[in-house]
Amino acid sequence: MSTLEENARKANEYTTRIREKGVLNRIGGKECPAISGEVFETLSPIDLKPLASVAKGDARDIDQAAKAAKAAQPAWAALSGTKRREILHTIADAIEARAEEIAFLECLDTGQSLRFMSKAALRGAENFRYFADKAPSARNGLSLPTGGQANITTRNPVGPVGVITPWNTPFMLSTWKIAPALAAGCTVVHKPAEFSPITASVLVEIAEKAGLPPGVWNLVNGFGEDAGAELTRHPDIKAIAFVGESGTGSLIMKQAADTLKRFHFELGGKNPIIVFADADLERAADAALFMIYSLNGERCTSSSRLLVEASIYDKFTATLAERVKTIKVGHPLDPATVVGPLIHPVHEKKVLEYIGIGKEEGATIAAGGGKADGPGGGCYVAPTLFTHATNNMRIAQEEIFGPVLTAIPFKSEDEAVLLANDTQYGLAAYLWTSDVTRSFRVSDKLEAGMIWVNSENVRHLDTPFGGVKASGIGRDGGDWSFDFYMETKNVSFATGVHTIPKLA
Ligand code: NAD
Repeated sequence: MSTLEENARKANEYTTRIREKGVLNRIGGKECPAISGEVFETLSPIDLKPLASVAKGDARDIDQAAKAAKAAQPAWAALSGTKRREILHTIADAIEARAEEIAFLECLDTGQSLRFMSKAALRGAENFRYFADKAPSARNGLSLPTGGQANITTRNPVGPVGVITPWNTPFMLSTWKIAPALAAGCTVVHKPAEFSPITASVLVEIAEKAGLPPGVWNLVNGFGEDAGAELTRHPDIKAIAFVGESGTGSLIMKQAADTLKRFHFELGGKNPIIVFADADLERAADAALFMIYSLNGERCTSSSRLLVEASIYDKFTATLAERVKTIKVGHPLDPATVVGPLIHPVHEKKVLEYIGIGKEEGATIAAGGGKADGPGGGCYVAPTLFTHATNNMRIAQEEIFGPVLTAIPFKSEDEAVLLANDTQYGLAAYLWTSDVTRSFRVSDKLEAGMIWVNSENVRHLDTPFGGVKASGIGRDGGDWSFDFYMETKNVSFATGVHTIPKLA
């Protein structure tokens, strides 16, 4: 395994190009600065030094990108599914070939540790391969013969789509949204998050070098309230696939109302992990730790509320606290690091404020509880565990999106379900019990789009991914992705000479 020093040296090489030319937009197959010539600077979460100078797109860049996507739409939609499959597989090959570079850039841009990001490119490539293989059958609907009519249902790409992504795991999420759009035959305008835009520019460059025709995938960098909002309002954009905060999802709906767009929203979460006394407690503890302290806790499906049966609560949380204290916080490129610096001082401040709120609300800090030391002195926060919390506290209700876990006891199965559902969110839930009957009963009552029983979050690309309540609208994965990116059309053919009512 390479050392931090070796990784830092390589990272320096990978960032040379970014330092020299900055992060540009890509419209109609051409790399370009913002039309206004304006740029914004991103910061390294490690040492808060400037990291990249990024094109600051606005309404004019979005308009140009939407027009390029509209112009490219007919030819891309008309291309055979097998040809689209070939191109998407070539993109996956090219992603794999640059996997190390992507992983390193993602670590530097987001602060996520290499331990998790080393798989980012490979997972991204897997997304492309999965949807590539589905491209040839994407248009296939149903053939339904009925009395006197034969119905043939087909699907057509909905048209140019806008994809807006957040900063937490930008590479993986961009591939997760864009690969099915391309497989369905849609052209794309992508607006990545302003905190971590680097790998989105690498991704679109890879795609075009791999043979994606110009204009099929356009990238506009910029701020949410500016470039993002314009994308949601643009009349040539037919649908918005958005991943981000619930409040932003609500804003996007309002912004896009006049142009009657279709939405797919993957939003926030405050996901419960419920541990019954009869569970395999060691595995449950491993999963609880993994689901909140991996990816810096900046993860929509993180298990941020730990609900533990009262009879084992003290022992379970005490053991957990000892383990949390040993989690290694450090430089993202250090192979031993689990928790790296949080994305940005603004987000670090938010997470630290929540730690303060938890103290004021009367919860006990069993581990962590403030800033941590780390190389470079950046946005390091100690993995934190709150115990003796109640579900009405803000630390139990609001999405902190950092390495902060809130542990709450429950006395009965009914109370566990009540607490789990007592939140505005409903993305994921995790359930630990050795009682099979109970696992069916409880999972049936939980208000969440995805539930894992006796497991951490393990993603299968053909299962539906998405949330209920304030956690989202719509599902990704398998054919669900095509339902969003395609319009369903039914054509009914008369198979005989039936009687048509004569009105005159
Ligand atoms: P955010 O909502 O602040 O920003 C997400 C994106 O939306 C960014 O690109 C931003 O520029 C853009 N944006 C902001 N305002 C906009 C506007 N008015 N119009 C159009 N676009 C706008 O979210 P974030 O802070 O970047 O990411 C963290 C959030 O994302 C958390 O709530 C997390 O749970 C959520 N998330 C959800 C999933 C999921 O699958 N459910 C996955 C990852 C992250």
